[in-house]
Amino acid sequence: MEQFSVRSGSPAQTALIGAALADALRPGDIVLLSGDLAAGKTTFVKAVAEALGSTDPVTSPTFALAQFYSARSRILHVDSYRLADVEEYRDLGLAEYQDEVISLIEWGEKIAGEFPCHLAISFVATDETDGRSLTFASSCDRWTGALGDLHAAISKDTNGAHARDRIVID
Ligand code: ADP
Ligand code: MG
Repeated sequence: MEQFSVRSGSPAQTALIGAALADALRPGDIVLLSGDLAAGKTTFVKAVAEALGSTDPVTSPTFALAQFYSARSRILHVDSYRLADVEEYRDLGLAEYQDEVISLIEWGEKIAGEFPCHLAISFVATDETDGRSLTFASSCDRWTGALGDLHAAISKDTNGAHARDRIVID
């Protein structure tokens, strides 16, 4: 599977989707998050970090550019919003860590060329109040092979125990 979309109707639902992704993540993975300001990217990262057992405060690293969180697998949280170009990203010297950590990169589409293998998640506000559409797209075998299971996990997590936080799968 190369891509799928899910709809979230609240921050809590977005967090459930993030927790489902957390189960599939492993060191070396690169997740690029795109979408306008307030689309839900940081809300999603926070849920992933919590699901991986992190108790570190998660905030948009817009000024810090990058933060590490300790968790079952160490997390690198980047915000590319203020980066002028890919060169500026390279100068941060983060590449040497990226095989060992899970990288979650806001505004990641700006530096997607650095990561031939990544999972892209785009967040788009819908017409409904608090509605968001999340599209998951694979750029390589790692994610093309994992998206089917991820899609199933999101459906299961969100339509079973958490019926009140039901997610609609398109
Ligand atoms: P970003 O990092 O994309 O700029 P944030 O996660 O910081 O976005 O902020 C998202 C804002 O939108 C928060 O105030 C959150 O409460 C609100 N929100 C409303 N509906 C949703 C939703 N379905 N998913 C995520 N956030 C939502
Ligand atoms: Mg943010």
